[in-house]
Amino acid sequence: STFYEIDLGPELNENIRRCKYVKPTPVQRHAIPISLAGRDLMACAQTGSGKTAAFCFPIISGILRGQSGPRQRGMRSAFPLALILSPTRELSVQIHEEARKFAFQTGVRVVVAYGGAPIHQQLRELERGVDILVATPGRLVDLLERARVSLQMIKYLALDEADRMLDMGFEPQIRKIVEQMEMPPRGIRQTMLFSATFPREIQRLASDFLCNYIFLAV
Ligand code: AMP
Repeated sequence: STFYEIDLGPELNENIRRCKYVKPTPVQRHAIPISLAGRDLMACAQTGSGKTAAFCFPIISGILRGQSGPRQRGMRSAFPLALILSPTRELSVQIHEEARKFAFQTGVRVVVAYGGAPIHQQLRELERGVDILVATPGRLVDLLERARVSLQMIKYLALDEADRMLDMGFEPQIRKIVEQMEMPPRGIRQTMLFSATFPREIQRLASDFLCNYIFLAV
């Protein structure tokens, strides 16, 4: 099978072609249709499995489909539509780079925020507008406390390497972040949880954050 059999839309298909992806990896082949159908997902995925595209493609496709045109600047700055949480600066930078390629010339703007680096440049990037925010949990809590970003409009949440985030002690921050999204009306958010392992703590996270989810092990 090819990507073109999955209905991702012409702009994203063009970028997939530019990236020279021809065949979806197993996690992509199964996860993307589930997400496009609007279902929450908990997926088993190792590094190198192609999981970045597995959560980026449905997010970008969904944003492009859901919008009647570019959002106004005032709404766009500080109100991302999608949040991708990742455990480390390195992984966040990597996801940001890939997501930018996938969103090339679509008008969808991707911004990254991570700890251990000055916040000012990241604040400037956020002010210029953000549709997809890639962030580490600690830095995002900092941005939320400074009221420089709001999660009220989040429609897509992806947790990448969730087991590693818990190992690093980020559970309180993750819970604080997700609490900010639990605004009425409920059920407007779609959540994807990716993890290499499924200990009890991950299962608990899934039952707290996901709604009627599909479990995918490939
Ligand atoms: P990831 O597991 O998301 O870190 O992806 C691992 C590597 O595989 C990255 O360099 C991706 O650009 C590449 N990749 C992901 N999906 C595909 C695909 N369907 N075809 C070819 N390369 C891919």
